[in-house]
Amino acid sequence: MSTNDRCLFCRIASGDIPARKAYEDDEIYAFHDINPQAPTHILIIPRKHIPSLDDMEGADVQLVGTVVARAAQIAHDLQLTADGYRLVANTGAAAGQTVFHIHFHLLGGRNFGWPPG
Ligand code: AMP
Ligand code: ZN
Repeated sequence: MSTNDRCLFCRIASGDIPARKAYEDDEIYAFHDINPQAPTHILIIPRKHIPSLDDMEGADVQLVGTVVARAAQIAHDLQLTADGYRLVANTGAAAGQTVFHIHFHLLGGRNFGWPPG
């Protein structure tokens, strides 16, 4: 598989495409969204390419749990916890997913309405 066959977020996680990194370890990469929807808008992804929450298999469940826990830790580190934050995983095109590599949006720094649009 050539580099260009890999998805956008695989290429960001491997450093092939630049992004403003917020966190990384062996399993997880986090970076600032290029089109922020809140004062803080970070995307947290597993390095493993899993297209969506609908595609998890086997140990992917534990991995995605680790991604969620890391998102909460990043929120804590950025002091978003006191005022609250939103963690969103759009799943499927109808729900607004445009990049088919699991990612959680961590949004904070403003109030959020409900229901979302
Ligand atoms: P979703 O629509 O839930 O699939 O979210 C995809 C997100 O990726 C959007 O919020 C985009 O703004 C963001 N995005 C797309 N390309 C990049 C990029 N090169 N760097 C950072 N964020 C990106
Ligand atoms: Zn990918």
